[in-house]
Order: sequence, then structure tokens, then C-alpha cells
Amino acid sequence: MIPCAPVELRAPAPKSASFFSPAPTDQLPGYAAELEASPRGWVTLPLWCVWVEPPGFDMWSKRWNDAVEISLSTWGTYLKLQRVNNPADAHLRLWRRNPPLQGGRASNGRALLSFENVQRGGKLKIEPLVDLLISPGIRKEAIRATSLHELGHGFGLWGHSSKSTDVMAAMPGPKPVTEPSSRDLSTLRWLYSQPSGFAE
Ligand SMILES: [Zn+2]
Repeated sequence: MIPCAPVELRAPAPKSASFFSPAPTDQLPGYAAELEASPRGWVTLPLWCVWVEPPGFDMWSKRWNDAVEISLSTWGTYLKLQRVNNPADAHLRLWRRNPPLQGGRASNGRALLSFENVQRGGKLKIEPLVDLLISPGIRKEAIRATSLHELGHGFGLWGHSSKSTDVMAAMPGPKPVTEPSSRDLSTLRWLYSQPSGFAE
């Protein structure tokens, strides 16, 4: 199959009837025990097709773009990513916008996950589709920390760490985390050693 082949058809996938329950394991690394699988299994892919909202001519969108590109290349050290020019061809899309208020509260970023029936190269399969909303109106370091965190969700880390020094901290500490910790990486390695719900 051609990596990130253009999508010919796309439609929301029907709700999964069966529920995936990961086998309980003791002694999981990092915060792997906090991760939640989807009803279809772990949301991991051997290759992620990624689209980033292109910057405009203003300084703010360029600044946003610089910051999210750094976060993408950071995760790209550990995962296989391929860029696509068309948002319709992506598994994961980064949007430069403020997430809508949730319960009356504003946040800097949000990760939205859905499942779609997708036909690429004549082959029909169910794929995850992740939309990340990252606010442009925050400090550059905050855009980096926010995008790194939301990308972590996007690449399958659906859960949070109790330690504020981890990228996937539930409660951010005083210092923005702009590099994955050893706990982030051991959790990611464990996740990608599990069977994917979306393998070929
Ligand atoms: Zn989060």
C-alpha cells in the first residue's frame, strides 16, 4: 500500500459493537496503567499521516507554526510520521484555533478522536481520525507544551500522568514541559508494543 495514499471515500464508522478490554498486567511502565483503549482497541498506527494548518502571512500564525512543528519533530523521533498536503488524507490534523469552552472553561488545546470508514488505494478500512485544536493566542513555550501534550493524545496516549514533569501530566506544573520525560517514552514504547486496533 502507498503510505498516506489519497482518500477516495470517507464516512463515519458505525459504533463498535464489541468492547475491547486490555488484559490487566502488573508492573506497567510509566503511567501505562492510566491509558484507556478505544472500544476498537489501542489507537496506534504503524504510520501516521499528519496535516498541519498552513500559516498565514501574519507573525502569530508563523509563531504557532514554528512551535507545533518542533513538537511534531519531537514525537517524530519515536514514531513514524508522514506529512500530507490535504487534510482529507490525514489521520491526524493540527488546527490553529481556540478550543470551544468546555463547561464554561477555556483551555489551550483539545484532542478530538473519531473513527471513520476510509477508502485509500481501493482498500476500505476503519481508521482513527484525530483533530487537535491548539490555541494561537498563548506564549510560544505554551504552544509547544500544549501541542506536545495534545499530540501525545493524538498518537494514542489517551490518559494522563500524575507527575507534572511528564508531557502527559493531568495538572501542568509551573514549568512548561517541552520534551518527553523517560516516563513518557517508556509509556509510549509499551503502548506501541501492544496490538493495535488499526493494524493493516
Ligand atoms: Zn490531556
